[in-house]
Amino acid sequence: MAKVIQERNLCVGCGACAAICPKYWEMGGDGKAHLKESTVTGENHIIIVENVECNTDAANACPVKCIKIEE
Ligand code: SF4
Repeated sequence: MAKVIQERNLCVGCGACAAICPKYWEMGGDGKAHLKESTVTGENHIIIVENVECNTDAANACPVKCIKIEE
């Protein structure tokens, strides 16, 4: 199990995560990325996953490093 965390207020809307990892990421109407099916705790949007899959690539590609993975 792993936790994928997006510090959404830092997102600059570059679209990299949604391009690399569309299973988990999509662009929202406000121009920021949305972590699908996430729950919101303060500024953090969080999902728990069995396997991180492409979220690692999304985190590495994020120019502002607002995607974190805790395994
Ligand atoms: S890669 Fe980072 S900055 Fe770019 S849209 Fe995704 S979360 Fe936002």
